[in-house]
Amino acid sequence: MSEGAERTYGRHALYSATEKRALTCTVECSSCREETRVSYIELAALMFPLHFHLPVLKYHSSWFRCPACGKRTWLRIHLDR
Ligand SMILES: [Zn+2]
Repeated sequence: MSEGAERTYGRHALYSATEKRALTCTVECSSCREETRVSYIELAALMFPLHFHLPVLKYHSSWFRCPACGKRTWLRIHLDR
C-alpha cells in the first residue's frame, strides 16, 4: 500500500472535534481523554444496545462505547459543541 493510500485508509470517518456542524455533538472520553465529534446518528449507534447516564454524580456522566478508543467507558456528551 502506498503512503497516500494508507493515509486515506487510516483516516477516521468521524468529523474533526473542533469544527461545529449541524446535528453533531462531541463526546469527551474519561479513558483516552479524546474529544470526538459525532453525528447524532453515530451517537445513537455508539449507545446501542446498552448505555446509561448518571448526570448528577459524575462529570463523565454517560456510559457507552467511546468512538476514539473503542472502549465501553464513561463519557461526557457536549450537545452545545
Ligand atoms: Zn476513549
